[in-house]
Amino acid sequence: MRKTLIGLVVAALALGATPAHAAEPGAPGLGDPYYPRAGNAGYDVRHYSLGLQYDPATDVLTGRTVVNAVTTRDVSSVNFDFALPLLTARVNGRDVGFAQHGTELTVGTGGDVPAGTDLSFVFTYSASPSRTHAEVPVTRWKRTPDGALAVAAPSMSPWWYPANDHPSDKATYDVVITVPDGVEAISNGELVGTFPLGDGRTNWSWFSGKPQTTYATFLAIGQFDVRRGYSDTGKQVVTAYSDALGTRGPAARASVERTREVVRFLEGRFGYYPMAELGGVVSPYLSSTLETQTRPAYPAWAFQDGPNDYVVVHETAHQWFGNSVAVRQWKDIWLSEGFATYAQWLWSEAVGEGTAQDLADWTYRYYPADHEVWDVAVADPTPRYLYGAAVHERGALALQALRAAIGDATFFALLRTWASTKEHGNAGTAEFVAMAEEITGRDLDDLFRTWVHSPGKPAPVGARSLTTSEPKSFARIHRDGPARG
Ligand SMILES: [Zn+2]
Repeated sequence: MRKTLIGLVVAALALGATPAHAAEPGAPGLGDPYYPRAGNAGYDVRHYSLGLQYDPATDVLTGRTVVNAVTTRDVSSVNFDFALPLLTARVNGRDVGFAQHGTELTVGTGGDVPAGTDLSFVFTYSASPSRTHAEVPVTRWKRTPDGALAVAAPSMSPWWYPANDHPSDKATYDVVITVPDGVEAISNGELVGTFPLGDGRTNWSWFSGKPQTTYATFLAIGQFDVRRGYSDTGKQVVTAYSDALGTRGPAARASVERTREVVRFLEGRFGYYPMAELGGVVSPYLSSTLETQTRPAYPAWAFQDGPNDYVVVHETAHQWFGNSVAVRQWKDIWLSEGFATYAQWLWSEAVGEGTAQDLADWTYRYYPADHEVWDVAVADPTPRYLYGAAVHERGALALQALRAAIGDATFFALLRTWASTKEHGNAGTAEFVAMAEEITGRDLDDLFRTWVHSPGKPAPVGARSLTTSEPKSFARIHRDGPARG
């Protein structure tokens, strides 16, 4: 026994010195069926610490990003997803070589490194992220008249920090952005504070203590009215409204300031709110909505017809489904979009603008059998329909079909169990089906085959007759749907 222990200690020491078997370069992708080169194999990121400077006048982003990671196998180098030209790379205090090809950054690890090793990478860079070049002919960084936006799905991080850019590798974040005095810089999580440097610039310091995906991590720089407060459970609330909202400003404020109320409503359906902060950011320079963690990003057009509580319900619901319970692979996106759309149906039901069954019936009726929305398999929509109507509306239809089959009490127990069991993790369709079958004790293969795995228009949802008039909330939920994340 004692001898075995000593043997293990010796083996562990030996492992610390040289890998047990040949170390190889980390793979430049995680093999996601839709985006095989997204993310990188060989390590798991624990924490990103981003130190950024941005000057709206010059569009120059200067960064010093620290990535703390643990190797998941023996590696001799690893890849990051990064589009900007890198200046320097260090690993555990040593300068290391690197190479860039397109959005793949390969970094040496300073020799062979065994699995389970803590690596601290430090990257420096300085570039205009809105400028494209031959190596990377696209950019998702958006320069605006008053600053910049880094808000996009399914990939945004390569244009502002080196990352393992796939939802399956979540991490915590510190984001400190230095901007000229009088400019606001908004990101996720807790606003730790704003610190004037005394040289005409101010640091905006943000901290995300809950695991966060790269695509739900954002930056919005410009002229914003920033409001800070606390929820009745003591969570920090930060909302930010662009000074350029014009006549849409009041409607945006009226809706987004209801986020606290929306959180309480959704807690009644899905269980406790999984994040430590809440809020929202609204800008006329955003083209679509995104469930950026703790602080959804709303384009001004979402409020062009006046207040729009439904869009707030959708994005806030994503804090449970999409952010806390994130997709395992991108094809699982209906577990995010279908659930967030279903939350809107629940809100409609609560405010008397149409029950979820009414909305399911009308959605079913709205799309004729030859409509292309039925050509898509909800649980495998292909990258083309990643944010299409199928994952949003047919995803919600699938949930209503499930609710009709298993009853309200079991259905909501399932949603709460799903949210708490998979909290701050990743999950796929097979896991949801397994949990539904476990909770109900029923074989639900036919139901899921019909509503999420197979293309084609199935028989109507549930046993009720189809509604003959359009639910009051249908147009708003439907119209915003495919244009939002
Ligand atoms: Zn969404």
